[in-house]
Amino acid sequence: AYKTKKVLVTGGAGFIGSHVVRTLLNKYPDYRMYNLDALTYAGNLENLNDIEEAINYRFIKGDITDETFINQLFQELRFDVVIHLAAESHVDRSITDPNAFARTNILGTMNLLNAFKSIWKNDWEGKLFYHISTDEVFGTLGDTGFFTEETAYAPNSPYSASKASSDHFVRAYGETYGLPYVISNCSNNYGPNQFPEKLIPLFINNIINSKPLPVYGDGNYTRDWLYVEDHAQAIDLILHEGKIGETYAIGGFNEWKNIDLVILLCRLMDEKLGRKAGSSEKLITFVKDRPGHDLRYAIDASKINHELNWKPSVTFEQGLQKTIDWYFDNQEWLDNITSGEYQNYFKKQYS
Ligand code: NAD
Repeated sequence: AYKTKKVLVTGGAGFIGSHVVRTLLNKYPDYRMYNLDALTYAGNLENLNDIEEAINYRFIKGDITDETFINQLFQELRFDVVIHLAAESHVDRSITDPNAFARTNILGTMNLLNAFKSIWKNDWEGKLFYHISTDEVFGTLGDTGFFTEETAYAPNSPYSASKASSDHFVRAYGETYGLPYVISNCSNNYGPNQFPEKLIPLFINNIINSKPLPVYGDGNYTRDWLYVEDHAQAIDLILHEGKIGETYAIGGFNEWKNIDLVILLCRLMDEKLGRKAGSSEKLITFVKDRPGHDLRYAIDASKINHELNWKPSVTFEQGLQKTIDWYFDNQEWLDNITSGEYQNYFKKQYS
């Protein structure tokens, strides 16, 4: 008999997770979507204002490191699909508190794997564990070359080490217990709803307020940037058409040296703010490098491009423009976060 698919998204109140929840909820009205999130500093239910009333959507506040709670939740709700995004995600924080990253990213992932395995035993028909990961697990590239699905793992930060470890556990549960999984390793995301500790929203905010723009080292660090909604589209495709037991590298075919990115952002912001050309650039200040800083990340996304026919839908300039417009139209979102006001949102909404 036909039964509604129960899909659990973890970390759905975060930046990427909120876009994933919205994309899937809008596209698959017959799915029952559950969003499990601990609402750490990075989780914000305001990201999902527009869908919180949807009848096939339910928010669950909870911590993936709480093994008893996770087991009970899985016993009760018997999810068919888990899309796992909950994580500590900020590299700078991982340098000051690596253990928090091991707890959430490694042990939290294991709790989910164990709970999923214990409800389905070997009855895996129609089930999937999808782990959302990062290209940072591959370490760093020199001036040339690309990461692919075949690249050996060589993580350099506590953040990437914890994500690499969780990838390995997911794969090992597939090999050892037959748990059906897919993993995708994506490059840097940007777009609406990103917490303003990350480069692009931080700089948008600082330019608005005429505050310094701290650029690490000489600004030559190179990253491949992808618009968050294009990542959500890739996740949807992999979820439905990806092959079980495989890994997909996702990237924007869009490499930028930090300094060039900042100069482009400054130009777009000067236009937006009606400031004289070149005024935002004056805010750039070079700051002491981050330890263990990877020089360059770049993804060869040929596999998902050829096998699943995915490619980014916007250019970097278009994506940045949409992002800037969003932060301008949502000043309140930004102010609430910077003032800590959003911490009260959950209490207001769910008490
Ligand atoms: P984010 O920090 O914005 O969101 C993480 C979410 O997880 C938050 O809502 C937070 O409350 C929740 N969370 C944290 N610890 C939890 C716990 N113990 N239990 C339950 N929920 C918890 O992160 P993001 O940028 O949206 O990244 C989401 C995922 O995508 C992460 O796994 C990250 O490694 C991966 N990823 C991110 C990027 C990127 O550029 N941001 C790129 C590739 C992969």
